[in-house]
Amino acid sequence: RDRINYLHTVLSLAISIAEARTVLEHELETIRTGGTWKGERIITSKQGPHINVDGSHGDILNFCANNYLGLSSHPQVVEAGIEALKKYGAGLSSVRFICGTQDIHKDLEQKLAQFHEREDCILYASCFDANAGLFEVLLGPDDAVLSDELNHASIIDGIRLCRAKRFRYKHMDLNDLETQLKESQSSRLRLVVTDGVFSMDGDMAPLKGICDLAEQYGAMVFIDECHATGFMGPRGRGTDELLGVMDRVHIVNSTLGKALGGAAGGYTVGPKPLIDLLRQRSRPYLFSNSLPPPVVGCATRAVELLLASNEIAQSVGDKTMRFRNKMTEAGFTISGSDHPICPVMLGDARLASLMADDMLKLGVYVIGFSYPVVPKGKARIRVQISAAHTDQDIDRAVDAFIQTGRKHGVVS
Ligand code: PLP
Repeated sequence: RDRINYLHTVLSLAISIAEARTVLEHELETIRTGGTWKGERIITSKQGPHINVDGSHGDILNFCANNYLGLSSHPQVVEAGIEALKKYGAGLSSVRFICGTQDIHKDLEQKLAQFHEREDCILYASCFDANAGLFEVLLGPDDAVLSDELNHASIIDGIRLCRAKRFRYKHMDLNDLETQLKESQSSRLRLVVTDGVFSMDGDMAPLKGICDLAEQYGAMVFIDECHATGFMGPRGRGTDELLGVMDRVHIVNSTLGKALGGAAGGYTVGPKPLIDLLRQRSRPYLFSNSLPPPVVGCATRAVELLLASNEIAQSVGDKTMRFRNKMTEAGFTISGSDHPICPVMLGDARLASLMADDMLKLGVYVIGFSYPVVPKGKARIRVQISAAHTDQDIDRAVDAFIQTGRKHGVVS
């Protein structure tokens, strides 16, 4: 009888697994037939404006990294990572509060607080974690969070984890924000939450208007600066510096995984009591490993370079405008205004994907973005300019766009 029961259990399990497989395969097929499959190309060199891609011959021009300042493979950044690896080892095998805090973690936190001109800083394994770990700690059921409808997925997930009342305002719409601020007036704390720069369109939050409204209605302001830290504003401090509201934005989350060396890691900067509380309560901080020393070493050097000179922060602006102007002249529609994220708007998901494939055949690596990453019908190729691109690199990319755009009837 035991044997029969055993065989029955094994059989049921096999049937469940087969059913799960059918469900998953059906889901995958839906993505494929919908034309929204996201393949991964394999890079066989280090990150930079020129890369090698598995299956493509020779040098490929790369226009889809968030390597805005070209620091991902900067010799000094790489060297600092090697030094930290040698001196401090591969990793901590621990979370921060057990035995995972080294002097280099404290030093990087201090430098990031200085860079953003905020009281204190806490490091996370990623900005996704920083966003996942903030709202639950700061806001309870008596509080309210007011979030731009197009905020990054990690903000949306972080807000889902908190128990505050949720208000979603229309993208960058100050009138709608004001309506929601009025509606949430009875809440104890109110936090307005926005990306500084929205990564899909390269558009910038109207921070001055947001801060005016927040002050009028007694709310705090949070910004996610992943696509701004290092190169927006005269000293690269971010959107808040560019728009003159550094002292009016209370909390900033950002990443070490884009302009600041590109390795990995994220952080929150803001008032000291908030950072102290995050160290006590923020779950992705408490229950996840410390940032590895080589990663800390690379990021620290990147921040030091930016603290030492404003030139690096300024190095991507002219290149961005060269690409935007030439593409617009050629008849393409580029979303956003002057950010190095330059979305070439195409509309159709399949067209974006086919054009990106054709661009690679011409030696230019760009990626098509489609639903669910962007709204349906708003597929695009998102080009990202880096300070490490030369003028010739940019001109070559524009030429390749014109050639493929003509082939697909996008430009004449
Ligand atoms: N926030 C924004 C606006 C982002 O674009 C990203 C990365 O794509 C993140 C957060 C997450 O950053 P990280 O890669 O450090 O987790």
